Amino acid sequence: MPLSREAAHYLFGVMRLGQGAELSVFNGADGEWDARVAEAGKKGGTLEPLAQSVPQWLPPDLWLMFAPVKKARTDFIVEKAVEMGVRRLLPVATDFTNSERIRQDRLQAHAREAAEQCGAVFVPEVAELSKLSAVLADWPDARRLMFCDEAAAGSSSALAGVFAEAEGPGPWAVLIGPEGGFSEAERTRLYGLPQAHVATLGPRILRAETAAVAALTLWQTRFGD
Ligand code: SAM
Repeated sequence: MPLSREAAHYLFGVMRLGQGAELSVFNGADGEWDARVAEAGKKGGTLEPLAQSVPQWLPPDLWLMFAPVKKARTDFIVEKAVEMGVRRLLPVATDFTNSERIRQDRLQAHAREAAEQCGAVFVPEVAELSKLSAVLADWPDARRLMFCDEAAAGSSSALAGVFAEAEGPGPWAVLIGPEGGFSEAERTRLYGLPQAHVATLGPRILRAETAAVAALTLWQTRFGD
């Protein structure tokens, strides 16, 4: 199994592993494996797979759609979503989004690192930034959307109603807005989307990253595995 330059640098330059060292590896597609360093070089190397230690698994079919916020807070959202078992991350530009650009490659690397840190063998895809309106225009019929709206009346117990009316397994997505929340035009669009279930996370306005973790926790409590 050949190693990329970055992986070789990390294993042999940073971790100081040498030929014959044993380690655990995963590639996002074939579970986790015990492996041995067969060749160690500055710019590359190879690993010899020994035995599979964890079979490949897929997280539930849950997407997190979120408006990017400031860099460190967006990193936090990505990291926590990976830990919480999200299958796909969709950054979306909304009417009030402050960060109009993201480094998709950096966020994808961040997702990989988060998966490594928590022993997940699945690395979610981080999509390129898209406009919310474009994503909604093409929204899959079968995918339900938990639209977290701080302006929706009620308490978090309203979620029981959201989930009760959407019984059974099936793909879901959670939508979290930007620092400034959603515009009225976006709300109208979302309230009219048949797949959308408006969810309140309680009477307090949460920061975007807190809302993401709270919404994913509630979803996991009801549907997670
Ligand atoms: N200004 C703060 C910030 O910088 O993070 C608060 C932003 S809040 C408007 C961002 C998003 O979190 C909202 O658009 C919504 O999706 C979600 N959110 C926050 N509090 C919520 C609540 N009580 N119920 C439902 N969603 C909430």
